Amino acid sequence: MLAPDRLVRFARHIVLPEIGGAGQVALAQASVALVGLGGIGSPLLQYLAAAGVGRLTLIDDDAVEASNLQRQTIFAEADIDQPKADMAREWVGRFDNAIDVAARVMRLGRENATAELAGHSLVLDGCDNFATRLTVSDACVKLRIPLVSAAVGRFQGQVGAFAGHLPGQPCYRCFVGDAFDAEDCDSCAEDGMLGAMAGWAGTFAALQAMRVILDGVAGLGDPRFGKLDVLDGLAPSLRTIRIAKDPACAGCSAG
Ligand SMILES: [Zn+2]
Repeated sequence: MLAPDRLVRFARHIVLPEIGGAGQVALAQASVALVGLGGIGSPLLQYLAAAGVGRLTLIDDDAVEASNLQRQTIFAEADIDQPKADMAREWVGRFDNAIDVAARVMRLGRENATAELAGHSLVLDGCDNFATRLTVSDACVKLRIPLVSAAVGRFQGQVGAFAGHLPGQPCYRCFVGDAFDAEDCDSCAEDGMLGAMAGWAGTFAALQAMRVILDGVAGLGDPRFGKLDVLDGLAPSLRTIRIAKDPACAGCSAG
């Protein structure tokens, strides 16, 4: 049950048949790990916190830079040079003190990802490099946690939901393969990025996260596992790609 002040706070959600009281309770009981607090992670965090997600773990090893402020909407000039995870935790504290929030100023790798992500009901990846994305995906399959992965560059965004631990369902590694395993492919600085495009991808990922959290609870909840939505900000347009499970995938194959 939700306390009276929470019923008021989330009234516009609760009145939606697709969420309702049961859906709002599910959001309050959800425990979400957010990997990457950049252009995607900022709006994603804002909408997850606003939606009443009860527990958040914020993971990022970077500090805020002046060039981040063009799209990383939770940070201000006073945050420059401070760790993003710590500043993001402070933002959540100011926004809704009832959220149980933890900050981890660290980079996830093979040696720590499983331990850090264990115990969450959903992982959201909005980080900026393939090595971390693949590490996070493999840990999610191992831990049997669904993953929403979001990426953006220039005018294009990609948001996909994965449940590689389920029979027949692909993981993120099925989608991209092993090619990028060791390589840092962050090209945002050279290629440029439209700030609002990161916002669209981030809020789209927040909506996708709600579908996963509300799966089996409320009418919003088709989790759309194994589908990737490609957002084009120039056209603009949206198209959906279905991803096949790779029987030889190093992340999710049974063998
Ligand atoms: Zn796979």
